[in-house]
Amino acid sequence: MSNQPEFERCSFCNCILHRTAGKYALPTVEGRSHATKYHLVAGRFLGRSSNRRGTKTEGIFERCPWNQEGATKLFCYECHEELLHNPVFLAEDVQVFAELVKARGLDEDQKSGDRSKLAGRVLLFHEALSIGLQTLQRTGRTGPF
Ligand SMILES: [Zn+2]
Repeated sequence: MSNQPEFERCSFCNCILHRTAGKYALPTVEGRSHATKYHLVAGRFLGRSSNRRGTKTEGIFERCPWNQEGATKLFCYECHEELLHNPVFLAEDVQVFAELVKARGLDEDQKSGDRSKLAGRVLLFHEALSIGLQTLQRTGRTGPF
């Protein structure tokens, strides 16, 4: 017997995933829970093109800073396409992030040929997300701000 779980489930919301052809993204239970694979670190950051396999574009990192190149997770359509692809940044969030960017010397006047400051901002964004998640978990906060 296989040790596989009976159902594939979404990594965020734990819903049972479906793979019915032609149903992806439809506003139905099947469409909203269709399985989709998410690359944890975008290939474009590492100079990999997902549109043309094998072609190498200029990445912003020489190698994956988190050592998770190529790693993926399964999500439902909703958690992948609606949640992960559309992070909400309110005006006050933008202001705080911009201040952190400046404090770390990651702001730019004129763009140069070097993308190391963008790389720094990507690292800062991940750090903010990671610290926020760990803080919520540690404090046991269950309600919204
Ligand atoms: Zn989900």
